[in-house]
Amino acid sequence: MDIKNFEFNALNLPSPIEEIFDECWNSKRIQVFVKRDDLIHPIISGNKWRKLKNYIQTFSLNDHSGILSFGGAYSNHLFALAFAGHALGIPTVGIVRGEELHVTSNSYLKQINEWGMKLHFVTRSLYREKVIPYEYENYLSIPEGGYGSQAIDGMNTLVNELPSCDAIYCAMGTGATAIGIARATNVPVTGIQTLNNQAEIENHLSDFPAANLTIDENFIFGKYAKSNADLDKFCRNFYEKHQIAIEPIYTGRMFYALINHIKNGHIAPESKLVAIHTGGIK
Ligand SMILES: *Cc1c(COP(=O)(O)O)cnc(C)c1O
Repeated sequence: MDIKNFEFNALNLPSPIEEIFDECWNSKRIQVFVKRDDLIHPIISGNKWRKLKNYIQTFSLNDHSGILSFGGAYSNHLFALAFAGHALGIPTVGIVRGEELHVTSNSYLKQINEWGMKLHFVTRSLYREKVIPYEYENYLSIPEGGYGSQAIDGMNTLVNELPSCDAIYCAMGTGATAIGIARATNVPVTGIQTLNNQAEIENHLSDFPAANLTIDENFIFGKYAKSNADLDKFCRNFYEKHQIAIEPIYTGRMFYALINHIKNGHIAPESKLVAIHTGGIK
């Protein structure tokens, strides 16, 4: 299946956008809209299709035998790539950090393996060096976590789907999504940092400058993937109030920060905000 058909038949694009209401911002006449990229697809959800699309296009136009990428044992990026490969008939390879792992170590890896992605479990040091096994030298290689110039460029279509607004909020992993959005618009973008990866993000920003991107690193809440009880509770309450599922790693932190910014007066009354729901719900 080609990409155009796949987008048209399998994906919910352009993704919906909806306004959410709460006394805490209604009282300041602030509007909050949620761009529901989480509804693009149940598996290739959120920013993952936007990040992958240009790579898959490059693959189709060139003489590669498949697509290879890198990730951890719970990588949403590898999960999305494995499914896309399965759906589009593209051979995929995942280089996974941790030689002690195998295809049945967790349900993500099991599923990825069932979709036909070839998994290679490598030591931390081989992983760090991003060694590509020689039999895959002809594969198109997507950097770790789906970060790269083509992922950044993939945000143009997202920005084209947005209404005019005063500020955009977005969760950051590698930063590709927030940087890509900021580079495609003049609207101020607030990136909520979720990992202790300041140096990585700074590197990415020196390659792809975005003067309208402000990073807030006050909502990391300790270690990656360790949801603290507060955040879990916040995500449950948010769902009860708005019927929009969020998770504590990315979108939970982003909304937590956004509400905090509204409460502490950081956002001017009568502003119109757009929060990007980058997905992550499985
Ligand atoms: C992968 C992911 C992110 C991080 O995106 P980057 O482009 O790496 O910053 C944010 N939110 C969700 C839900 C994700 O799965």
